[in-house]
Amino acid sequence: KSFQELGIIDPLQRAIEEIGFENPMPVQEAVIPYLIGEDIDLIALAQTGTGKTAAFGLPLLQKIAVCNIAPNSKSPAALVLSPTRELCLQITNDLISYSKYLDKISVVPVYGGASIEVQIKSLKRGVSVVVATPGRLVDLLNRGAITLQDTHTVVLDEADEMLNMGFMESLNEILSHVPDERHMLLFSATMPKEIGSIAKSYMHNFKEIVV
Ligand code: AMP
Repeated sequence: KSFQELGIIDPLQRAIEEIGFENPMPVQEAVIPYLIGEDIDLIALAQTGTGKTAAFGLPLLQKIAVCNIAPNSKSPAALVLSPTRELCLQITNDLISYSKYLDKISVVPVYGGASIEVQIKSLKRGVSVVVATPGRLVDLLNRGAITLQDTHTVVLDEADEMLNMGFMESLNEILSHVPDERHMLLFSATMPKEIGSIAKSYMHNFKEIVV
């Protein structure tokens, strides 16, 4: 199947074509149709390097574009959580390049080990998608620099790594700030039992996909 057949809109197709994506990778083919037009919860068992970022990133950007959700100075439409600063920046760069032909989409990375003041300033300019490491996001929430009250999509990327790094408590704290109607996508290379407990606590009728 092509990206078009999966339901991806023209401006996103054009951008990924320019990046050199010709055909969807298996995780994209499995995940994208579920996420286009539907707000379902999803757990995907997928290794790194399999094309996960576009699998969640394209539907997430498409929803913001199609629903015409403007950048907000306090609360992002979507939140992506990543275990490390490197992955956080990688995801941000990927989302920015996919959104080349979309108007008014702002993707902001927030991560530890860098000036929180600078990050607070970029949030104030308005955000569509925040890509965050958990510790820094908790800090920003506690300072009132960000809220998650309008956040409709939450992605946990490399969820098992976040748990290995001791972020369970931060994840619980963060997810308690997100409205109940949001939907959640969880990507993980392994399925330790803590993932099951996250799913039980925070996900509704989730679908499981193994790639
Ligand atoms: P990820 O797992 O998201 O880090 O993606 C792994 C690599 O595959 C990245 O370098 C992507 O740019 C690339 N990639 C993702 N989707 C596709 C695709 N459909 N066709 C070709 N390359 C892709």
